[in-house]
Amino acid sequence: MVDVDNAIMKFDDFPFYSYSRYLKETYGTSAYRVAVDAGFSCPNRNSDRTGGCSYCDELGSMAVYHRGQEADLAYGGSLSLQKQIESVKSASVCYKPTMEERKIRIKEQLENSIQFIKRRYGTEYLLLYFQAFSNTYAPVTELKEVYDYSLSLAPFKELIISTRPDSLSIAVVRLLASYKKAGLDVWVELGLQSSNNRTLKRIKRGHTSGDFIKAYELPAGFGIKTTVHLIFGLPGEGHREIMESVDFVARLEPEGVKIHNLHVPIGTELFSEYLMGELTVPSGYRHLDYTIEAIERLPASTVIHRLTCDTPSHRLGAPRTFFKKGTFYNLLTREMAARGTRQGRLYGNS
Ligand code: SF4
Repeated sequence: MVDVDNAIMKFDDFPFYSYSRYLKETYGTSAYRVAVDAGFSCPNRNSDRTGGCSYCDELGSMAVYHRGQEADLAYGGSLSLQKQIESVKSASVCYKPTMEERKIRIKEQLENSIQFIKRRYGTEYLLLYFQAFSNTYAPVTELKEVYDYSLSLAPFKELIISTRPDSLSIAVVRLLASYKKAGLDVWVELGLQSSNNRTLKRIKRGHTSGDFIKAYELPAGFGIKTTVHLIFGLPGEGHREIMESVDFVARLEPEGVKIHNLHVPIGTELFSEYLMGELTVPSGYRHLDYTIEAIERLPASTVIHRLTCDTPSHRLGAPRTFFKKGTFYNLLTREMAARGTRQGRLYGNS
């Protein structure tokens, strides 16, 4: 475990164990994630891709080139709110690409991203990140073909797989463990969002906190690292429920945590609730307070991968005003210094 008093401010100015510091400690230099949408889907969506979590607009997990009209918006177009809602809905197509099509798209994405990263940052340290949808939701043979092909395209140092608790079987974990044996560091990113089963039901996550625990225990047995995702400000949740979720995660001592402030994308079920006045979302300052306390409650050894959400503004229904990421991190750093606090200060008190 990292020594709380000596861990802070070692490689960067953040008063918590940041992901950038973790990468510098691990590789001695900066390393970059190369995200890929490999054409997987999600078990929490219907075959026509309706349904799903009440905050999911589907596009949040899709590559821009899959998004039709929405892609124009990402590059500076402007549409009325009604047009934006129609755009989001019309992009929810039911189409499963063949393996050959998927490989072509994977190659295009990786080549473009790697060129950009090398040009801009000049690094050789690349981490392959399967980000879109549930990246273990397929037969193991199909997963292996997609992972093997993607890994063959560059000398990646890590394999990072984002998925849901109900998509992680022992067979899949054994496959992931085989990449670890081959010399890659392997991470699983597992969505929990809240440990409160009432909240999970309300937002239609399609799993319970008990399901999460069962899935969480699988990778650890193979030396695979896990990052847990949490959302602060879900419907019906205030300080008490949020900190219960943080403590639930802290007790597991995960290698990583990703914190998101609640974002309500246009066109989602949650956006309808928001428009009806049935839902509020945390302001930037409220999220700052939640986040500082969460950092205090988490073990000092847990890598904090992120602290805010970054839905593109053309898709974002609420909050319409929030701190820019850099501003949020600066405010948090200043506020934690003013409070004389640090990651792990309250860990183990609950
Ligand atoms: S698990 Fe992810 S992709 Fe699936 S419905 Fe929920 S947010 Fe959307």
